[in-house]
Amino acid sequence: MVTVEIKKTRERAIQNRHPWIFSGAVHRADGNGSFAQVVQADKQNVAWGLYNPKSQIRVRVIDFTPMPSNPERVIAERIRDAASMRREFLPAGTDAFRLINGEGDGLPGVIADIYGDVMVVSTTCEGWEREREKLLFPALKKAWGVRAVYLKDNVDIRSIEGLSSRDKWLSSFTVPMPIDIHESGLTYRVHLLEGQKTGFFLDQRVNRVTFAGMAHGLDILNAFCYTGAFSVAALKAGAQHVTNVDSSLPALDLAKDNHRINGIDETGYTLIRENAFEYLRYLYKNGKKFDAIILDPPGLCKSQSQVDKASRAYKDVNMQAMKLLRPGGLLMTFSCSGNISPTLFRQIIFGAAKDVGVQARILAQLGADWDHPISIYCPESEYLKGLLLRLS
Ligand code: SAH
Repeated sequence: MVTVEIKKTRERAIQNRHPWIFSGAVHRADGNGSFAQVVQADKQNVAWGLYNPKSQIRVRVIDFTPMPSNPERVIAERIRDAASMRREFLPAGTDAFRLINGEGDGLPGVIADIYGDVMVVSTTCEGWEREREKLLFPALKKAWGVRAVYLKDNVDIRSIEGLSSRDKWLSSFTVPMPIDIHESGLTYRVHLLEGQKTGFFLDQRVNRVTFAGMAHGLDILNAFCYTGAFSVAALKAGAQHVTNVDSSLPALDLAKDNHRINGIDETGYTLIRENAFEYLRYLYKNGKKFDAIILDPPGLCKSQSQVDKASRAYKDVNMQAMKLLRPGGLLMTFSCSGNISPTLFRQIIFGAAKDVGVQARILAQLGADWDHPISIYCPESEYLKGLLLRLS
């Protein structure tokens, strides 16, 4: 075990139960191992968690107690608790959801998603590398019975943390891809091995339902559509037409399947492979207008130092979208960057509306669905935020 002593000037974070101990806050670190016990200079306010010697986030705190002799019990308990909440709240017609959401479920650096019979697991900090086979995977398998488990190590954040990317099946039973999952009574085809994130943007489930509830009869632009889930939900709810834009060909191929398997006629939608930032400008130049736009760009801000640049990019793409809306049009706009706070995001959208010169009313403030809980002590875990606006 590593003992990490916090600098006197940097004790606020631990007192506020923030689960991240940054390298700059560490006075000294002694010993080695996957786990760290964190102490203040006066030995008050201790915590324990996973140690990540190469990461900016040196310790990811699991609990604010002294290091227990049996951390596996705490980990298993957190997993059981997360699973029992999902069992209780999972709606009918949905078999794909997030089982473990990192900090939000008290297990920093762990993501586990369920896709029907398959669990996809990913760990994103070094402390887990040596411990996960013993302390994590068996408890996950026990908490949620699935036929197959896939380890997805090929995620962006792992390279930032200096970790390797090797995906593999953890179970002897494997499942041919793609698979069909169900969400809110609709079917979606997902490629768990090659898809983005763990295969599907599960966090948007509630927002797809909200949007579908307003989509009847509308002519819609779905910018950054991925595999077309917003489009399918809207068309099944009676939308008139959806123009889907994404730069990824594999995503658009699956989007085509998704419309077909849900019985949507090809006249109801188009799939366009383009750079959406440029395509929005092109549409505007050609005088195109829409009744509603979904704007769900990829994370534009990977670190604190990129906040200003990313804010300008978010503002610009939102201005483009606002210019494409008819009076009374709906804009459902998102940012999935943890470094862009909900307050900053709202300021960015305010700036965009002001510069375009439109009236914008906020109909709803949006975030990830409840199976992506946010730790109240870790505002950065509120990575997805969105606004539903009505322009006039
Ligand atoms: N709303 C989607 C998720 C969007 S994720 C859903 O509910 O499933 C962001 C998407 O942006 C990804 O599909 C990615 O392929 C796409 N993307 C990234 N850069 C792009 C660009 N420059 N132009 C168009 N699409 C882009």
